[in-house]
Amino acid sequence: MNMISTRDTSKTAQSYADVLLAGLAPDGGLYVPSEYPQLSRAELQELKGHSYRDIAFAIKKKLIGGDIPDKDLRGMIDRAYSESSFGAAEGGNIVPLIRVEDDFYVQQLSLGPTAAFKDMAMQELGQEMQYELKKRGEHLTILGATSGDTGSAAEAAFKGLTSVTLFMLSPEVGMSAFQKAQMGMLSGGNIFNVSVRGRFDDCQDLVKELKQEEEFSKLGAVNSINWGRISSQVPYFVSGYLQAAAHIGDPVDFVVPSGNFGDMLSGYIAKQMGVPIRRLIVATNENTVLDTLFKTGIYTLASAQVTSSPSMDISKASNYERLAFDVLKGDAAALTRYMSEFESKKRVDLKDYGASAEDFTALGFSSDSSSHTDRLQAIRDVYKKCAYVIDPHTADGVSVGFREKKSDGVPMVCMGTALAVKFEETIQEALGFVPERPVRFKDLERGLPEKAFHVIDVDAEQLRQLIRKHAPAANSSDVS
Ligand SMILES: *Cc1c(COP(=O)(O)O)cnc(C)c1O
Repeated sequence: MNMISTRDTSKTAQSYADVLLAGLAPDGGLYVPSEYPQLSRAELQELKGHSYRDIAFAIKKKLIGGDIPDKDLRGMIDRAYSESSFGAAEGGNIVPLIRVEDDFYVQQLSLGPTAAFKDMAMQELGQEMQYELKKRGEHLTILGATSGDTGSAAEAAFKGLTSVTLFMLSPEVGMSAFQKAQMGMLSGGNIFNVSVRGRFDDCQDLVKELKQEEEFSKLGAVNSINWGRISSQVPYFVSGYLQAAAHIGDPVDFVVPSGNFGDMLSGYIAKQMGVPIRRLIVATNENTVLDTLFKTGIYTLASAQVTSSPSMDISKASNYERLAFDVLKGDAAALTRYMSEFESKKRVDLKDYGASAEDFTALGFSSDSSSHTDRLQAIRDVYKKCAYVIDPHTADGVSVGFREKKSDGVPMVCMGTALAVKFEETIQEALGFVPERPVRFKDLERGLPEKAFHVIDVDAEQLRQLIRKHAPAANSSDVS
């Protein structure tokens, strides 16, 4: 597969395998395929009724385009999406639809090891990175920062992989006890949890600071702009479509609770590949960067406020650059000007680049936002209709979806991005009880090992020391 950077005017192509390990392109752009591979109606028909692993294999194969041999890819997918990792029965569906009411479904993407949809991409990313590193005889030290679900999803996926050492920074306060415990339980071996006496922004700044230094410049990343992650999210839109459409070719609408625009971007790619998706509805919480963008064509950097759907509390939507590239018709020079205007003025209007919000509409996009009250109402509505407890992020999607739903018989699927058990407080507030935890999460907080977290100040030197002490191979040898 020819991968190009959104900001590379010379359009120098990289392979899928190269961008998998690279993160950002050297010019600061994001990697995108030079064209979207196509899925024919006949191929789609053929996938109906197949397992998620079959669907993931067919779609990933197209997106990887021969850079990984079929047999190896199939093996990785089989390991990443086993029924046992997703708590499903043998042969069971790991991304099932829950029927809320006529033509309205929630697709469960959070049955994986850490109960968030990020497992869907991360499980496969871990396999692919290990595979590629082994092939090259390399070892990668990854440094990341998390305020929520990314940390545990990455740790669950990378735990025990011999070619990767993972350092994950998280703020000492701010995350739920459940989330902290989920990460802490994964400490040990190649996984290092670092608790920073500061806020999430401090964690991110530490990561940035180190990566600018020669010694640590080769540290890897697993953030949501990684193309490996985006491409591994496309198959569940295909599966959702196949489950919701009565006949192949019928339209289906998707509504997606959005933050960094990774999940929704994958839905857009599925549509570009030829899946008959009609509408792509972006749902935000009170952090309305994306809602404003899709309604007005104006992209503004905001300061994120803390809400009861915290994984969507973003100040910018990093993956949007990939859609902007398409809206600007693949003009990397224009895109580069557009993004640098955003970075310097914290605001950019598509109108100044010969495009507008109507271009989003033409691609199927629309958007809306929800408040805390809306989320509580959506949690209650869904519970009343089908006795299923949705989490506050999914509630943002459902709330917008109910408002946008037309009674035209077109099914609407809302992505279910986390299990409600991760957000007990908000569920208690909405329903007056806390949801029953799956067995694997019972007493989670109590099993936390004593030294699960290395605690450091907001001090780059303490972090450097920690990495030098624990990271094997490349980085430590650079030091000496
Ligand atoms: C990360 C996350 C989101 C937002 O997904 P994006 O890809 O960043 O748009 C929504 N819900 C939950 C539970 C998440 O963890």
